[in-house]
Amino acid sequence: MTIRDIQEGLKNSSFSARELALASLERIKTEEPHVHAFLEVTGEKALAQAQEVDDIISRKEELPPLAGVSCSLKDAILLEGVRCTAGSRMLEHYVAPYDATVVSRLKRAGAVIVGKTNMDEFGMGASTEHSAFGPTHNPRNLSVVPGGSSGGSAASVAAQECLVSLGEDTGGSVRLPASFCGVVGMKPTYGTVSRSGIIALASSLDQVGPFGNSVEDCERVFQVISGKDNMDATSILYEYGDIAEPASAPSLKIGVPREYFAKGLDPRVSQIIKETLDKLSNAGASIIEVSLPSTAQALAAYYVINTSEVSSNLARYDGIRYGNASEMDSSFAEVLMANREVFGNEVRRRIMLGTFALSAGYYEAYYKTAQEVRKLLRDDFAKAFSQANVLMGPVSPFLPFPLGEKKEDPLSMYLVDMYTVSANLTGIPGISVPVGSIENLPVGIQIMTPHFQERLLFSTAKTVEQIVKAR
Ligand code: GLN
Repeated sequence: MTIRDIQEGLKNSSFSARELALASLERIKTEEPHVHAFLEVTGEKALAQAQEVDDIISRKEELPPLAGVSCSLKDAILLEGVRCTAGSRMLEHYVAPYDATVVSRLKRAGAVIVGKTNMDEFGMGASTEHSAFGPTHNPRNLSVVPGGSSGGSAASVAAQECLVSLGEDTGGSVRLPASFCGVVGMKPTYGTVSRSGIIALASSLDQVGPFGNSVEDCERVFQVISGKDNMDATSILYEYGDIAEPASAPSLKIGVPREYFAKGLDPRVSQIIKETLDKLSNAGASIIEVSLPSTAQALAAYYVINTSEVSSNLARYDGIRYGNASEMDSSFAEVLMANREVFGNEVRRRIMLGTFALSAGYYEAYYKTAQEVRKLLRDDFAKAFSQANVLMGPVSPFLPFPLGEKKEDPLSMYLVDMYTVSANLTGIPGISVPVGSIENLPVGIQIMTPHFQERLLFSTAKTVEQIVKAR
């Protein structure tokens, strides 16, 4: 079903919101033993929300835009009264005292929140294997990872445990798991969606984005969650407007970055992306090669900026305000040390790298240089967008990989983010649309547009979706 089908069905009384919620909770029960997408299932709370929707229907009031739509949330997004761990032992017992702005907007729109989804600890990773609560399995092929860090969110949609989900994308964490799980996932322009009530990873890069089975479902969620919020100083005045029509193929001038097809890209991924571009070209789109020369430096710059912001953002987890301090009968210093020790290896690595990158004498060489690369990348993209109206390429150089393959090899895990980090460093929007698969290993195409051109992004993505389905 799509969000549209749900609106229709509720209006015609083909089913109730309660039945939809029960179906989702039932599906979670049967799928979770294999998939492990969820860290917390809301159960009764979800049914109470569904009841509110059914009450609206029985009062014959107008249905809100996401009425009865089952939705999961990455466990970095606060849902009042429910545990919010960010995949970390540090927050194992932390209960969210309020709703994130995106959550209150979803609730107001009638969405039914069915649970919180698994993630790499604090969002650090590309496979969901860095969760302190065990990995998530890819529903399309249980022996491979779902991607990360919002792997639980992507898997919950792919396993049909819920209709849509919210993830958070700092360097690819929505687009990558969407690609690996064969669903649609979108990262909005920085500033269009509020970060208030989101557990921060790297504040200058973080952005919440939707997952769905179709481009339109993601668009409908984006429509609801986007817009100015006074609780987030980086949020801007923005209104998406109505649902977009698919773009006509001949109106598309598609730029394909040369650097995204260089050495290191799996030839099977490359082939699927090229076949999709051929289909677009046959439908009348013009395809041109563009260049993003700073791509080679983007990943290094991303990991300097990410770790620097991590070292600052995670300073608050001092073991006093969060953690298990009250349970301990020890000195202040011991509590502090013991509690910082609950962090996983990837988190410790990043705190150390970031602290080093920001330290006196090294700041200029690392952090400042990384910020300069960020500026060069912006210039690269501005030039590419003067030649093309959208950019397309792979989401990841790799197919979904077996669990365990990269877990202990941080550099190869970082390489997964090769093509996704640039959208975060520059702030532009991006989306992953499923375009094929090899032996149950899905592949997504990445589409990027200039800042605030979400309309063009969704309408282009719909065209791609139609062309892929038409074969
Ligand atoms: N894989 C990237 C990282 O580990 C992306 C994380 C994210 O987008 N939250 O930093």
